[in-house]
Amino acid sequence: MINTTITPFHKKLDSPLTKKAITVLQINLGRRCNLACSHCHVEAGPKRTEELSPEVCQQLVELIYKFPQIQIVDLTGGAPEMNYGFKSLVEAARENNKQVIVRSNLTIYFENGFDYLPDFFAKNQVKIVASLPCYLADNVDKMRGDGVFDASIKALQWLNKVGYATQPNLTLDLVYNPQLPNSEKFSLTPDQAKLEQDYKQFLQEKFGIVFNNLFTITNLPVGRTKFHLERKKIYAPYLQFLESSFNSSTVEHLMCRDEISVDYLGNIYDCDFNQMMNLPAKTFDGEILTVKKLLEAGNLDLIHQVQTAAYCYGCTAGSGSSCGGALL
Ligand code: SF4
Ligand code: SF4
Repeated sequence: MINTTITPFHKKLDSPLTKKAITVLQINLGRRCNLACSHCHVEAGPKRTEELSPEVCQQLVELIYKFPQIQIVDLTGGAPEMNYGFKSLVEAARENNKQVIVRSNLTIYFENGFDYLPDFFAKNQVKIVASLPCYLADNVDKMRGDGVFDASIKALQWLNKVGYATQPNLTLDLVYNPQLPNSEKFSLTPDQAKLEQDYKQFLQEKFGIVFNNLFTITNLPVGRTKFHLERKKIYAPYLQFLESSFNSSTVEHLMCRDEISVDYLGNIYDCDFNQMMNLPAKTFDGEILTVKKLLEAGNLDLIHQVQTAAYCYGCTAGSGSSCGGALL
């Protein structure tokens, strides 16, 4: 029988996981999404209503104006494009010469009122990070819903047409997530560079699509992925598998080291996974932070140590994993 005891993540580290200077502001604008994918760690969907309020959006705009140290504004959700404040945040970030990343599910461009997006993205030189968990239709539709693969292909062709992946400032990156396991036959994400070549060849030959980079992202046992693993009674074995693949060289590069993640209420976390698991970031004095408090303090670097949990083994397994793909 497999040993399912998990070593607390912080005990695996040689020293506490400290924060570096903050350069990335990741904002989760809300839970509204036109899809309801089986692996979604946010548990987003069309019936969710939580989103930014005008007040918190205004505070975030102020934060973007106030702190030149923020280099990247990374917008996620839900479908960030569907949630309140999306356009204002893109425009505020661009006015301040920050790089803007939008984590887009692609299919949103075909929903009523959202066909402006490809041109809007191109005009603002938004970097698009788009989910395409596989280049085979069946696998994508199984994870994301019927017809999602075809819509994603059309959206990618549309993005190419407005200049994405062919013009220098229009970057289009794709994300691969492994299928969720149904038994204890676990595996790590495949080699990112090799899979990128396979994706590029297939999408180019079959659909004439080009893109810049492929990111492989490990399924962290959070949100719907956690529920799935629990239903299959493989939650603890999956964590144990991730722990057995722990690679200490990834720790230096973890995305939580230099980012803050903000929820739709304006609360601050070390990353989007901690946000979903309700594990807030804390100051040196143990105080919980909000965007309002950061504005009042005039300082973004109030967090000393990153809050960790067992699912952090997902970011440190093998070549590591982050919102920007493999870490090594
Ligand atoms: S994974 Fe992305 S596209 Fe799918 S439901 Fe979640 S937020 Fe929406
Ligand atoms: S889940 Fe990953 S990114 Fe988040 S705190 Fe843990 S190691 Fe860092």
